This record gives sequence, structure tokens and C-alpha cells, in this order.
Amino acid sequence: MKIAKNTVVTVQYKLSDAQNNLIEDGREPMVYLHGGYENTLPKIEEELDGKDVGYANTIQIEPDDAFGDYDPELVKVEPRSRLPEPLEVGMQFEGMPDGADDGEAMIFTVTDIAEDKVVLDGNHPLAGMALRFELKVLDVRAATEEEIAHEHVHGAHGHHHDEDDEGEAGDEFRSHPVH
Ligand SMILES: [Zn+2]
Repeated sequence: MKIAKNTVVTVQYKLSDAQNNLIEDGREPMVYLHGGYENTLPKIEEELDGKDVGYANTIQIEPDDAFGDYDPELVKVEPRSRLPEPLEVGMQFEGMPDGADDGEAMIFTVTDIAEDKVVLDGNHPLAGMALRFELKVLDVRAATEEEIAHEHVHGAHGHHHDEDDEGEAGDEFRSHPVH
């Protein structure tokens, strides 16, 4: 079966940056619903569209087509007293960007902690990076009607409805829909 809209694709992958530093070795293959449901990066869908099991290639995706450029204005320093304890570098909080009035909350990652101040970075952990994906198609099947209605994959390696996604950095190119 060829990869087309409304197929469920299982892909083995290795994610590196443009300098070939490993970001995620993909021991667990990625399983996504193909067809513009934003389950994975559009450039990955573009690469795999029409391909079959066994197809393998390495592609590089520039920041513009991945998670955008790094924006220094999204870094802010907050008094530590405004954040919950215990606090650790790498923790993530939902918050409003400075000066935002459109009401769109963002995820901020704690990148530094001082005695009474905390640095919060609103950039995506993979922002500003060119991403190199080694891809190999392991399986292609037709999606179920329920999966198409939900716009994501169900089942063993798919979306778990009660999953609490803490999210590793390398995990971020897969969407994690919440019901
Ligand atoms: Zn669902």
C-alpha cells in the first residue's frame, strides 16, 4: 500500500541537527496519520507521499519549515517567587508572552535559575535548528473512520487519549492532540 491521504504510516527515524549531532535516535518508531492533519512536519509528509514500505531517505528541514527561527524576544526573566517550587531547569509552564494582548498562551521552558530570578524561554526547543531526519517506512495501512474523524492515530503506538505528554525535546515534531 502506498502512502496517501488517510493512511497510517509507521516510520523509523533518527533525528539529528545539521552538524549531525544526534537529537533523538527514534527507538520507538513514529506513527502518524498522513494527509495534512499536522500529525507530523509537512516536509516529512511531502517526502513520504506516494512511497511504499521499505522506502528510506535522509532529508534536511530548515527552521522555516520546522519550528521557526529562534526569537530572543521570547526569553524573559521572572522573579522566582512567581513560579512554583521545586523548580528545575527544563520544566515547562504555560504563560503569556510579554506585551501580548491577543490572549494566546505559550509554553515557556525554564532555561536558567538564579537565587531570586528565573529565565523562561518561549521558543520551541527545536527553534532555529535545521533538522536532519533519516527516515525508513516500516508500515502503511488504511486509517479507520474513527482515526480520520479524530485526525490522529489510535492503537498501540498511536495516540493515547489519557496520555499526559511531558514531552522530550526530540518528541516535539509529533503532535500530541488532546481530547
Ligand atoms: Zn482519538
